[in-house]
Amino acid sequence: MGAGWHRIRLEVPAERAELATDLLLVAGASGIVEDYPELHLPGPAISGDPREPVPPPPSPADGRIEVWGYLDADVDAASALGSLRASLADLPGLAGAAPRLEPVPDEDWGHAWREHYAAVDLGRRLRIRPTWEAAGEDGRLEIRIDPGLAFGTGTHFTTAACLELLEESLTPSPPPPPPSVLDVGTGTGVLAIGAVLLGAGEVVAFDADPDAVDVARGNLRSNGMADRIDLWHGTLADLPTGHRFDRVLANLLAPLLCELAEDLAATLQDGGLLIASGLLVEQEAEVCAAMESAGLNVVESRSGGEWAALTASRRPS
Ligand code: SAH
Repeated sequence: MGAGWHRIRLEVPAERAELATDLLLVAGASGIVEDYPELHLPGPAISGDPREPVPPPPSPADGRIEVWGYLDADVDAASALGSLRASLADLPGLAGAAPRLEPVPDEDWGHAWREHYAAVDLGRRLRIRPTWEAAGEDGRLEIRIDPGLAFGTGTHFTTAACLELLEESLTPSPPPPPPSVLDVGTGTGVLAIGAVLLGAGEVVAFDADPDAVDVARGNLRSNGMADRIDLWHGTLADLPTGHRFDRVLANLLAPLLCELAEDLAATLQDGGLLIASGLLVEQEAEVCAAMESAGLNVVESRSGGEWAALTASRRPS
């Protein structure tokens, strides 16, 4: 896997390193390296997710560190760089991060982070478990995931919040028929698989990134759901007009959520719920305004660190 990888380098104040890491992952990075050259550490810290319990090294003398996000060659590196630049522009302390794209020497970054990725319990009933770990025996509903090069290990707030809000929205069980679910930007397929486990009826999932669709297909198979979920490569524009759902899940970045607000609203049944994630707390007001003007009422929001997620219901037409 190693040959052909690229990385995006950022230079940020040490106290913004976690946010920089999150933004790199959302922009499409599969692994993160934080470099503290002044400290002469034995090696870089490798991480597949910013919330792992890796102890942070002390801040370097000048208070700035380098953060690298690793992208596979098949990821559109230029557009990842573009979306990262857009999200950095308005953020305090990150405007001077000077993102730079570079090729990466041949090393197996795609698997290095694996050793840090462990099972995680979510909400009242769910667990996400790496495919290479033994199953739990306590009756939790297990989503088996091998993230490969796609986003969606479940350990990130943006994914976990979607699953928790979905679970809560389906508790107690809604009256039959089972609710239909659309997963916009499925990544590893984690939310679509979770939706089936939580009792959804029809589940449709798609992603604009063909590599993510391949990863999701593998995960659907290892969860025995290859024929259960309608998975395809594409965007909202490819969804037949008039195809509406009871729940729509969209873990995307704030600018995209705003841009797609009307199209997302159009995929909801009257009274259906949009669960949107991937926005920063400081972007919440803007995203809520876009949702409200698209005919949705924001009924719930929650945050974790710098990230926020919200639920919005479609006003009856
Ligand atoms: N749903 C997963 C992954 C979220 S990451 C989770 O919650 O963890 C966002 C995903 O959306 C990425 O896989 C990205 O490729 C995809 N994506 C970004 N813009 C998109 C668009 N316009 N249409 C469809 N997918 C998109």
